[in-house]
Amino acid sequence: MEKKMNGRREFLKKTGLAGAAAVVLPHWACAGTKGMVTPFAAEEIPYQQQALPYSYNALEPSIDAMTMEIHYSKHAAAYTKNLSDALTAESVDPAKMKLTALLGSISKYSPKMRNNGGGHYNHEFFWKSMKAPVEGNVPAGMILQSIQKDFGSLDTFKTQFADAGKNRFGSGWAWLVKSNDGKLIIGSTPNQDNPLMDLSDLKGTPLLALDVWEHAYYLKYQNRRADYINAWWSLVNWSVVQKRFESA
Ligand code: MN
Repeated sequence: MEKKMNGRREFLKKTGLAGAAAVVLPHWACAGTKGMVTPFAAEEIPYQQQALPYSYNALEPSIDAMTMEIHYSKHAAAYTKNLSDALTAESVDPAKMKLTALLGSISKYSPKMRNNGGGHYNHEFFWKSMKAPVEGNVPAGMILQSIQKDFGSLDTFKTQFADAGKNRFGSGWAWLVKSNDGKLIIGSTPNQDNPLMDLSDLKGTPLLALDVWEHAYYLKYQNRRADYINAWWSLVNWSVVQKRFESA
């Protein structure tokens, strides 16, 4: 996918289209996508757990350091390890199949592959979706315009997204995705499923994810999932969301 994005940037540069709105790229401008199972230009995630882009205490007070340490070094690390075991057991060569492609055909694999492939992807994606808290943290530019167009207002979007997280019974994730027709959609997935999976009801290119498993908030918020979600808005890395939106 990196190849595709580079190819796209090169194309834009060469043709002087960079910065132009609503550019539709011809097929040949998207080199390197051959063999991709998923139709979505989703962010690629390496199979190895990556270093956190900030320290454990960087997200305080919205998310406390101990929650981050246990979440990253125990829960998320376990998904990564179990995914690695499942790849070996099911003879998948990670050098030959990208994670997004694996997820796009996840119905062919075991529940272990589904739970841990999703768990690994979702957490890596989640860490990158956040940054140190900012007072009055809001999106701008193209992503803001799309949110306003598809949801009416930023407040309506935030309410609907928070509801998706609050109303997900048990464990799962809330998502903002870009559908194939370019529309923004809010939804949620159970357990460690995600919108790239062929068996997911919610489908699209993930732009933003929120972990609503109890392990993501229980130490600080206990049963108050709504308070966790409310505090989490200060952490959203909107420039990353914007980049994903542009690449999707
Ligand atoms: Mn989690």
